[in-house]
Amino acid sequence: MDAHKSLVDRLVRLGIIRSEKVRRAAERVRREMFVPESYKDMAYADTPLPIGEGQTISAPHMVFMMNELLDLEVGQVVLEVGAGSGYHAATVAEIVAPSEEPPHTWGVVVSVEINPHLATLAHYNLMAAGYSSRVHVLNMDGSAGVPLRVKVDRILVTAAAPDIPKPLFEMLKEGGKMVIPVGTPGLWGQELLLVEKVEGKMVVRRVTDVAFVPLRGKFGWR
Ligand code: SAH
Repeated sequence: MDAHKSLVDRLVRLGIIRSEKVRRAAERVRREMFVPESYKDMAYADTPLPIGEGQTISAPHMVFMMNELLDLEVGQVVLEVGAGSGYHAATVAEIVAPSEEPPHTWGVVVSVEINPHLATLAHYNLMAAGYSSRVHVLNMDGSAGVPLRVKVDRILVTAAAPDIPKPLFEMLKEGGKMVIPVGTPGLWGQELLLVEKVEGKMVVRRVTDVAFVPLRGKFGWR
């Protein structure tokens, strides 16, 4: 059996992938298109991999766990902070803007990346994989929010913050959700939080211990 399919099957068996849409997106997006040439043979190992600039593409189980928590639907506007390779953004785009659905129903992913080299990498990877009309990459600090004209349905942060950045919470629509790792850099000491906006208030649920690279920028680690 091919490595891609057996990875997805295993994550379904483990209960990480629970919904049909997260599974479909996991099957649809080819992770090998988002990892460096020298790591292609490890593209379907359930592990983070280096993508340059001291950063990593997250492990597949973390990507799909976060996608399940986000409770994504067709048509949603999603902000990602930390585009990296562009892989996670592509898996989200396959849910909010699935290739089978007509483009007028599509939502969009705006993915922000602070490192100019990685912003370029994400842009080209997403273009090569066919996601450039569904994911827009911006090269800027996303920790302090992004000047969009609309509020967003979902926010996905893929680097660990010292705390939940207020300006990001303010970008959420009522009923909106954010998934964010919070805690000190280094191995462990971080937890994944699910944040919801309920009647304007922050409702926070701790999900699990995690290990992410540090969030930089105004509301990141110095
Ligand atoms: N989601 C990525 C993995 C990202 S690793 C993927 O699928 O490959 C975390 C990324 O967050 C790194 O690329 C890092 O440069 C970026 N980052 C860190 N602080 C940031 C900030 N304040 N704004 C935007 N991007 C940031």
